[in-house]
Amino acid sequence: MNIAIAKPKLGRDSKAFLAKKHRMFIDGKWVEAKSGQTFPVEDPATQETIGQVPAGDKADIDLAVAAARRAFEGKAWSRMLPADRAKLVWRIGDLLEKHADEFAELEALDNGKPVTNARRDDIDGSIGMFRYMSGWATRLNGETIPVSSKGNWHCYTMREPVGVVGQIIPWNFPLMMAAWKLAPALAAGCAIILKPAEQTPLTALRFGELLQEAGLPDGVVNIVTGFGETAGAALANHDGVDKVAFTGSTEVGKLIVKAAAGNLKRVSLELGGKSPAIVFPDADLDKAITGTASAIFYNQGQCCTAGSRLFAHRSIYDKVVEGMVERATKIKVGHGLDPSVELGPLVSKEQHTKVAGYIESGRKDGAAIATGGHVIGNQGYFVEPTVLTKTSRDMKVVREEIFGPVVCVQSFDDDDLEAVAKFANDTEYGLQASIWTRNLKTAHTLARKIKAGTICVNNHNYGDAAWPFGGYKQSGWGREMGKEVMENYTETKSVAINLG
Ligand code: ADP
Repeated sequence: MNIAIAKPKLGRDSKAFLAKKHRMFIDGKWVEAKSGQTFPVEDPATQETIGQVPAGDKADIDLAVAAARRAFEGKAWSRMLPADRAKLVWRIGDLLEKHADEFAELEALDNGKPVTNARRDDIDGSIGMFRYMSGWATRLNGETIPVSSKGNWHCYTMREPVGVVGQIIPWNFPLMMAAWKLAPALAAGCAIILKPAEQTPLTALRFGELLQEAGLPDGVVNIVTGFGETAGAALANHDGVDKVAFTGSTEVGKLIVKAAAGNLKRVSLELGGKSPAIVFPDADLDKAITGTASAIFYNQGQCCTAGSRLFAHRSIYDKVVEGMVERATKIKVGHGLDPSVELGPLVSKEQHTKVAGYIESGRKDGAAIATGGHVIGNQGYFVEPTVLTKTSRDMKVVREEIFGPVVCVQSFDDDDLEAVAKFANDTEYGLQASIWTRNLKTAHTLARKIKAGTICVNNHNYGDAAWPFGGYKQSGWGREMGKEVMENYTETKSVAINLG
């Protein structure tokens, strides 16, 4: 295995940001936590502390919610013309583009991900999200309704912003998850309290500076750093919040639902996955192997859509396993800031221990390790890309989300697509599935039969601002991106006028 752990240098802008004292963004001001507490931010490749951020808790969430409410009701935001809101949202994308390299570096440093991927996917993806969503600000029209009630009626609907929104995001795509949530909520005219993950708060704080530069009225976006159990729980519980949007584990998603019951705030959830990648004998095998390897090793396997259950038809099973092993052993592992690195460390010690524990559980349950299976070195949270064979449906590694570079390969004999759909659907999750085939009938039939919010044919981990994304079953509620996301951030008001 190719390992390069030496830490490369940062650019001037990233260094300048890291040298600052980090504060949270509430009501247009940069503030410390009320408690005065901070917590350290770590480089997961070296385990060095790279900054301290405020440990916000309920007291800070209370201030942020009050600021968001004032902003939501204030003239500057509520009376802003849709076209001006669109311009503002677009401008945020422009500012991000101007600082794209700095954001990519900060993301690679804080999360561990390869900087090349961060620049291409996380940052460009976030810029694209603001640009796409800016257009929705001027398109939130209602409908006139041809009612059948007796009399003379004029009935119509209008769309209004849902109000004060709490957004709780994870650490796997820190800036991009912020963009997925902030861009549509701003386009709709909501006011927001964003809580980044405690493992990766840096790009959200830097982004707050761009929001200010873009000219967003004070309090429209508030950014509170802190832990899930304190800041996150206070936000999900808060009676002053009209809606909570969450991306993270299914376990915490269920806690959010319970917390939201207090004032029946609206809830949207993007949760875990255990996505199948199914390779048929008629697929372009070279592309299928490269694609399914990327499906699990991309972002160190820390994707809710990761292709963690790989099914290969019996007739090509050996070739697929051989190809996966070859690609896994060639991956260049190292510090994410090295532009040639393809696989960085996992985000945290907790994640490192968890993934190593899953590999061990696979071993104990009788899985064979075709390649990988170990943590790397004793500095940083590196894990070898791992291919497990001889896996079966009842194993923990096949049932549970690992969130690491670990794939479970199984073979199938069946040419009956009903049977194929049955094992693909044999999971409590339903976020994504990929189908690798040249046969249109196979592709379209399975696309209908698989219970997942997103289906990819001859690709995996696809995403686009215009393409609705979300899960069936325990993978979530609601959709992000596309026109569907605007449902998350608006209420429909129906008006009936008696003209009689
Ligand atoms: P992971 O297990 O992958 O770290 P989590 O679901 O725990 O993912 O975290 C996703 C986000 O949810 C983070 O911002 C985290 O701080 C937050 N969070 C964790 N626990 C809670 C909770 N009880 N209430 C609200 N937010 C939480």
